[in-house]
Amino acid sequence: MQIIEIFKSLQGESSYAGLPCVFVRLAGCNLRCVWCDSEYTFKGGSRLTQDEVMREVRRLSPNGGLVEITGGEPMLQERDVVPLMERLLADGYKVLLETSGERALDRVPAGVIKIVDVKCPDSGEGDTFRLENLRFLTPSDEVKFVIASRLDYEFAKDFIREHLSSRTGAVILSPAFRKDATGSRDVANCSLDPQLLAEWMLADGLEARLGLQIHKFIWDPAMKGV
Ligand code: SF4
Repeated sequence: MQIIEIFKSLQGESSYAGLPCVFVRLAGCNLRCVWCDSEYTFKGGSRLTQDEVMREVRRLSPNGGLVEITGGEPMLQERDVVPLMERLLADGYKVLLETSGERALDRVPAGVIKIVDVKCPDSGEGDTFRLENLRFLTPSDEVKFVIASRLDYEFAKDFIREHLSSRTGAVILSPAFRKDATGSRDVANCSLDPQLLAEWMLADGLEARLGLQIHKFIWDPAMKGV
C-alpha cells in the first residue's frame, strides 16, 4: 500500500485524545477540504507491504496499544487496508480508522473504531458523506464535525439530531484550524473561536463534546509527524 508516514505521537482529536498512538498515514485523498492540513498526503509516499507496516508498528509500539489508520483517505486503499486492520486487531492493537465516510464502510472489520469526519458545507466538500454508512456505525464509533462557521454548526446540529441519536459513541465538534498556522500554539489559529462554538453548543443543549486538536497546541501547528 502507498504510505506517507508511520510515526508515534499522541492521539489528537477524538475521545482517545492524549493517549500514545502509532499513526499509519496512507497516501491519497479524493476530497479537497479548503482547510486541509494534510495536503502533503495527496501525492507520493512509499510502497510498503503489509508485513513492512506491521514490522514498523511493532517496533514503535511493541506492547500493543493504539494504532490509528489515517490519511488522506485510507479507504481508497481498501483492498490492502482492510487486511492490515485485521492483522493489527489479531495482534491485540486497538485500531482507530479516521475516514470521511465518503467511501463505503461495510468492509471495515468489526472491532475497528471508526472516527468519521463528516464534512460540513464550508469545507467545500459538504454532502460527501455516504448516508448508507450510517448503518455500519456502532456505539463504539465516533463522528466528528470540523466547524468553520455558524452555517457549519447548524449543519452539524441538524445531522446529529436527524441521524446520530444513540447510534454512535462520541460526537465531536471541533473548530476549524487555519491551515497556514505556524509558530504560536494558541486559539488565535482557530478560524472559529472555540468559546463561540462552546456557547452555541451550550445554548442548544447539544449532546456532543467540543474537541480541540490537542497536537496543534502541544507542537508547532505546522509540524508534521506529530
Ligand atoms: S478528507 Fe482529510 S485529507 Fe482529504 S482533503 Fe479533507 S481534510 Fe484533507
